[in-house]
Amino acid sequence: MRTISKDRLISEMERLVVEAATVLDDKVVACLRNGQGQEPGERARHILGEILENQAIARTTSIPICQDTGVAVVFVELGRDLHLDFDLTEALNEGVRRGYQNGYLRKSVVRHPLDRVNTKDNTPAVIHLSLVPGDRLRIRFAPKGAGSENMSRLAMLTPADGIEGIVRFVLETVKLAGGKACPPIILGIGIGGNFEKCALIAKEALFREVDDRAENPIDRALEERLFEEVNKLGIGPMGLSGVTTCLAVKVNSAACHIASLPVAVNIQCHAARHKETVL
Ligand code: SF4
Repeated sequence: MRTISKDRLISEMERLVVEAATVLDDKVVACLRNGQGQEPGERARHILGEILENQAIARTTSIPICQDTGVAVVFVELGRDLHLDFDLTEALNEGVRRGYQNGYLRKSVVRHPLDRVNTKDNTPAVIHLSLVPGDRLRIRFAPKGAGSENMSRLAMLTPADGIEGIVRFVLETVKLAGGKACPPIILGIGIGGNFEKCALIAKEALFREVDDRAENPIDRALEERLFEEVNKLGIGPMGLSGVTTCLAVKVNSAACHIASLPVAVNIQCHAARHKETVL
Protein backbone atom coordinates (compact mmCIF):
# COMPACT_ATOMS: atom_id res chain seq x y z
CA MET A 1 0.00 0.00 0.00
CA ARG A 2 1.31 3.45 -0.93
CA THR A 3 2.22 5.86 1.84
CA ILE A 4 3.52 9.41 2.21
CA SER A 5 5.55 10.88 5.03
CA LYS A 6 4.22 13.30 7.59
CA ASP A 7 7.13 15.67 6.89
CA ARG A 8 6.31 15.83 3.21
CA LEU A 9 2.68 16.61 3.88
CA ILE A 10 3.57 19.34 6.39
CA SER A 11 6.04 21.03 4.04
CA GLU A 12 3.59 20.89 1.11
CA MET A 13 0.88 22.42 3.27
CA GLU A 14 3.29 25.16 4.37
CA ARG A 15 4.17 25.86 0.72
CA LEU A 16 0.50 26.12 -0.28
CA VAL A 17 -0.20 28.59 2.52
CA VAL A 18 2.63 30.94 1.52
CA GLU A 19 2.00 30.65 -2.23
CA ALA A 20 -1.72 31.27 -1.89
CA ALA A 21 -1.13 34.41 0.19
CA THR A 22 1.34 35.92 -2.27
CA VAL A 23 0.57 34.68 -5.80
CA LEU A 24 -2.82 35.40 -7.34
CA ASP A 25 -3.93 32.87 -9.93
CA ASP A 26 -3.11 33.94 -13.53
CA LYS A 27 -6.71 33.39 -14.60
CA VAL A 28 -8.01 35.74 -11.90
CA VAL A 29 -5.44 38.32 -13.00
CA ALA A 30 -6.67 37.92 -16.60
CA CYS A 31 -10.28 38.52 -15.46
CA LEU A 32 -9.23 41.67 -13.61
CA ARG A 33 -7.42 42.92 -16.74
CA ASN A 34 -10.44 42.11 -18.85
CA GLY A 35 -12.65 44.06 -16.42
CA GLN A 36 -10.29 47.01 -16.60
CA GLY A 37 -10.55 46.98 -20.39
CA GLN A 38 -14.35 47.02 -20.23
CA GLU A 39 -14.84 49.71 -17.62
CA PRO A 40 -16.14 52.98 -19.13
CA GLY A 41 -15.35 55.01 -15.99
CA GLU A 42 -11.92 56.39 -15.14
CA ARG A 43 -12.31 55.70 -11.39
CA ALA A 44 -13.21 52.03 -11.88
CA ARG A 45 -10.31 51.57 -14.32
CA HIS A 46 -7.96 53.21 -11.84
CA ILE A 47 -9.08 50.95 -8.96
CA LEU A 48 -8.63 47.83 -11.07
CA GLY A 49 -5.19 49.13 -12.07
CA GLU A 50 -4.28 49.46 -8.38
CA ILE A 51 -5.52 45.94 -7.66
CA LEU A 52 -3.45 44.61 -10.58
CA GLU A 53 -0.36 46.50 -9.47
CA ASN A 54 -0.81 45.28 -5.90
CA GLN A 55 -0.91 41.63 -6.94
CA ALA A 56 2.16 42.11 -9.17
CA ILE A 57 4.12 43.58 -6.26
CA ALA A 58 2.97 40.75 -3.97
CA ARG A 59 4.06 38.15 -6.52
CA THR A 60 7.53 39.57 -7.07
CA THR A 61 8.33 40.46 -3.47
CA SER A 62 6.59 37.54 -1.73
CA ILE A 63 4.48 39.76 0.47
CA PRO A 64 0.76 39.06 1.00
CA ILE A 65 -1.76 40.27 -1.57
CA CYS A 66 -3.90 41.49 1.33
CA GLN A 67 -3.31 42.16 5.03
CA ASP A 68 -6.19 39.79 5.82
CA THR A 69 -4.57 36.42 5.20
CA GLY A 70 -7.74 34.73 6.35
CA VAL A 71 -8.89 31.59 8.02
CA ALA A 72 -7.23 28.49 6.51
CA VAL A 73 -9.83 26.47 4.62
CA VAL A 74 -8.65 23.05 3.45
CA PHE A 75 -10.48 20.52 1.30
CA VAL A 76 -8.77 17.13 1.42
CA GLU A 77 -9.48 14.12 -0.78
CA LEU A 78 -7.90 11.04 0.72
CA GLY A 79 -7.43 8.04 -1.57
CA ARG A 80 -8.71 4.93 0.16
CA ASP A 81 -5.60 2.97 -0.93
CA LEU A 82 -3.20 5.46 0.65
CA HIS A 83 -1.90 4.56 4.09
CA LEU A 84 -1.06 7.34 6.54
CA ASP A 85 0.69 6.40 9.77
CA PHE A 86 0.10 9.79 11.36
CA ASP A 87 -2.79 12.05 12.34
CA LEU A 88 -3.86 13.86 9.16
CA THR A 89 -5.62 16.76 10.91
CA GLU A 90 -2.63 17.37 13.16
CA ALA A 91 -0.22 17.35 10.19
CA LEU A 92 -2.38 19.74 8.14
CA ASN A 93 -2.58 22.12 11.08
CA GLU A 94 1.19 21.92 11.55
CA GLY A 95 1.66 22.90 7.89
CA VAL A 96 -0.76 25.79 8.33
CA ARG A 97 1.05 26.85 11.50
CA ARG A 98 4.45 26.86 9.78
CA GLY A 99 3.10 28.63 6.70
CA TYR A 100 1.61 31.49 8.70
CA GLN A 101 4.61 31.77 11.02
CA ASN A 102 7.44 31.38 8.50
CA GLY A 103 5.62 33.40 5.83
CA TYR A 104 4.99 36.26 8.31
CA LEU A 105 1.28 36.14 7.52
CA ARG A 106 -1.28 37.74 9.81
CA LYS A 107 -2.76 35.34 12.34
CA SER A 108 -6.50 35.93 12.37
CA VAL A 109 -7.96 33.04 14.35
CA VAL A 110 -9.34 33.37 17.90
CA ARG A 111 -9.89 30.28 20.04
CA HIS A 112 -13.49 31.19 20.96
CA PRO A 113 -15.88 33.64 19.27
CA LEU A 114 -16.61 35.40 22.57
CA ASP A 115 -13.36 35.42 24.52
CA ARG A 116 -11.46 36.48 21.34
CA VAL A 117 -8.05 35.14 22.41
CA ASN A 118 -5.81 34.83 19.33
CA THR A 119 -4.32 31.36 18.83
CA LYS A 120 -1.24 33.14 17.42
CA ASP A 121 -0.56 30.61 14.66
CA ASN A 122 -3.79 30.76 12.61
CA THR A 123 -4.85 27.27 13.63
CA PRO A 124 -7.12 25.44 13.76
CA ALA A 125 -7.76 25.23 10.04
CA VAL A 126 -11.27 24.49 8.77
CA ILE A 127 -10.74 21.06 7.22
CA HIS A 128 -13.18 19.16 5.01
CA LEU A 129 -12.19 15.55 4.39
CA SER A 130 -13.60 13.11 1.86
CA LEU A 131 -12.58 9.57 0.93
CA VAL A 132 -12.05 8.91 -2.79
CA PRO A 133 -10.82 6.00 -4.92
CA GLY A 134 -7.08 5.68 -5.54
CA ASP A 135 -3.87 6.16 -3.57
CA ARG A 136 -3.34 9.91 -3.79
CA LEU A 137 -3.93 12.79 -1.43
CA ARG A 138 -5.33 15.97 -2.95
CA ILE A 139 -5.13 19.11 -0.86
CA ARG A 140 -6.91 22.31 -1.86
CA PHE A 141 -6.24 25.36 0.27
CA ALA A 142 -7.78 28.82 0.45
CA PRO A 143 -7.19 31.59 2.97
CA LYS A 144 -10.64 33.14 3.42
CA GLY A 145 -10.70 36.76 4.51
CA ALA A 146 -13.47 38.07 6.77
CA GLY A 147 -14.59 40.99 4.60
CA SER A 148 -16.24 38.84 1.98
CA GLU A 149 -17.05 35.93 4.32
CA ASN A 150 -19.00 38.25 6.63
CA MET A 151 -21.23 39.34 3.76
CA SER A 152 -22.11 35.77 2.75
CA ARG A 153 -25.68 34.54 3.42
CA LEU A 154 -27.86 31.46 3.42
CA ALA A 155 -31.63 31.19 2.94
CA MET A 156 -33.96 28.23 3.32
CA LEU A 157 -36.26 29.01 0.40
CA THR A 158 -39.20 26.82 -0.57
CA PRO A 159 -39.68 25.12 -3.95
CA ALA A 160 -42.38 27.70 -4.77
CA ASP A 161 -39.70 30.42 -4.68
CA GLY A 162 -38.04 28.69 -7.64
CA ILE A 163 -35.31 30.16 -9.77
CA GLU A 164 -36.69 33.70 -9.39
CA GLY A 165 -36.41 33.38 -5.61
CA ILE A 166 -32.79 32.28 -5.94
CA VAL A 167 -31.92 35.17 -8.25
CA ARG A 168 -33.66 37.66 -5.94
CA PHE A 169 -31.75 36.35 -2.92
CA VAL A 170 -28.38 36.42 -4.68
CA LEU A 171 -28.88 39.97 -5.99
CA GLU A 172 -30.07 41.14 -2.56
CA THR A 173 -26.97 39.57 -0.97
CA VAL A 174 -24.60 41.26 -3.42
CA LYS A 175 -26.36 44.63 -2.92
CA LEU A 176 -26.13 44.29 0.86
CA ALA A 177 -22.42 43.46 0.54
CA GLY A 178 -21.73 46.51 -1.64
CA GLY A 179 -18.11 47.59 -1.25
CA LYS A 180 -17.63 45.69 2.02
CA ALA A 181 -16.78 42.45 0.21
CA CYS A 182 -13.97 44.17 -1.77
CA PRO A 183 -15.40 43.72 -5.28
CA PRO A 184 -14.95 42.63 -7.99
CA ILE A 185 -16.15 39.46 -6.33
CA ILE A 186 -16.54 35.81 -7.26
CA LEU A 187 -19.77 34.18 -6.13
CA GLY A 188 -19.83 30.61 -4.86
CA ILE A 189 -23.46 29.56 -4.83
CA GLY A 190 -24.85 26.36 -3.40
CA ILE A 191 -28.38 25.31 -4.26
CA GLY A 192 -30.05 22.28 -2.73
CA GLY A 193 -28.76 19.86 -0.12
CA ASN A 194 -29.82 20.85 3.39
CA PHE A 195 -28.73 23.66 5.70
CA GLU A 196 -25.07 22.62 6.10
CA LYS A 197 -24.59 20.87 2.76
CA CYS A 198 -25.73 23.96 0.90
CA ALA A 199 -23.10 26.13 2.63
CA LEU A 200 -20.42 23.52 2.02
CA ILE A 201 -21.02 23.24 -1.73
CA ALA A 202 -21.12 27.04 -1.99
CA LYS A 203 -17.68 27.17 -0.38
CA GLU A 204 -16.39 24.40 -2.62
CA ALA A 205 -17.68 26.28 -5.66
CA LEU A 206 -15.10 28.99 -4.89
CA PHE A 207 -12.35 26.43 -5.45
CA ARG A 208 -13.39 25.92 -9.06
CA GLU A 209 -11.29 27.50 -11.83
CA VAL A 210 -12.47 31.04 -12.46
CA ASP A 211 -13.09 30.30 -16.16
CA ASP A 212 -14.86 26.93 -15.90
CA ARG A 213 -18.60 26.38 -16.37
CA ALA A 214 -20.94 24.14 -14.40
CA GLU A 215 -21.45 20.75 -16.00
CA ASN A 216 -25.16 20.63 -15.22
CA PRO A 217 -27.02 22.75 -17.81
CA ILE A 218 -29.44 24.16 -15.20
CA ASP A 219 -26.55 25.31 -13.01
CA ARG A 220 -24.69 26.66 -16.05
CA ALA A 221 -27.70 28.72 -17.19
CA LEU A 222 -28.07 30.10 -13.66
CA GLU A 223 -24.37 31.05 -13.60
CA GLU A 224 -24.75 32.95 -16.88
CA ARG A 225 -27.92 34.76 -15.79
CA LEU A 226 -26.52 35.75 -12.39
CA PHE A 227 -23.23 36.92 -13.92
CA GLU A 228 -25.15 39.31 -16.19
CA GLU A 229 -27.57 40.54 -13.55
CA VAL A 230 -24.95 41.04 -10.84
CA ASN A 231 -22.81 43.09 -13.20
CA LYS A 232 -25.80 45.27 -14.04
CA LEU A 233 -26.07 46.36 -10.39
CA GLY A 234 -23.44 49.06 -10.94
CA ILE A 235 -21.60 48.38 -7.67
CA GLY A 236 -18.23 48.17 -9.45
CA PRO A 237 -14.66 47.80 -8.19
CA MET A 238 -14.48 48.36 -4.41
CA GLY A 239 -18.13 49.49 -4.48
CA LEU A 240 -17.36 52.83 -6.13
CA SER A 241 -19.51 52.12 -9.22
CA GLY A 242 -18.71 50.44 -12.48
CA VAL A 243 -19.62 47.45 -14.61
CA THR A 244 -17.14 45.01 -13.03
CA THR A 245 -18.94 43.90 -9.87
CA CYS A 246 -18.25 40.21 -10.26
CA LEU A 247 -15.61 38.24 -12.15
CA ALA A 248 -17.43 34.90 -12.10
CA VAL A 249 -20.40 33.03 -10.67
CA LYS A 250 -20.04 29.37 -9.71
CA VAL A 251 -23.15 27.33 -8.98
CA ASN A 252 -22.91 23.92 -7.33
CA SER A 253 -26.09 21.93 -6.76
CA ALA A 254 -27.12 18.91 -4.68
CA ALA A 255 -30.19 16.75 -4.18
CA CYS A 256 -32.61 18.11 -1.59
CA HIS A 257 -35.87 17.50 0.28
CA ILE A 258 -39.14 17.87 -1.68
CA ALA A 259 -40.16 20.78 0.57
CA SER A 260 -36.82 22.65 0.56
CA LEU A 261 -34.81 24.95 -1.66
CA PRO A 262 -31.74 25.98 0.34
CA VAL A 263 -29.50 28.65 -1.21
CA ALA A 264 -26.09 29.72 0.08
CA VAL A 265 -24.11 32.61 -1.32
CA ASN A 266 -20.45 32.52 -0.34
CA ILE A 267 -18.77 35.70 -1.49
CA GLN A 268 -15.10 35.75 -2.47
CA CYS A 269 -13.34 39.10 -2.77
CA HIS A 270 -10.98 40.00 -5.64
CA ALA A 271 -8.10 38.48 -3.61
CA ALA A 272 -9.35 35.08 -4.81
CA ARG A 273 -6.50 33.01 -3.42
CA HIS A 274 -6.41 29.25 -3.62
CA LYS A 275 -3.78 26.62 -4.38
CA GLU A 276 -3.74 22.88 -4.60
CA THR A 277 -1.42 19.93 -4.72
CA VAL A 278 -1.67 16.18 -5.25
CA LEU A 279 0.65 13.91 -3.27
S1 SF4 B 1 -12.35 41.03 1.68
FE1 SF4 B 1 -10.52 40.22 0.60
S2 SF4 B 1 -9.44 42.00 -0.26
FE2 SF4 B 1 -10.93 42.74 1.27
S3 SF4 B 1 -9.73 42.91 3.16
FE3 SF4 B 1 -10.70 40.87 3.18
S4 SF4 B 1 -9.21 39.49 2.23
FE4 SF4 B 1 -8.57 41.58 1.75
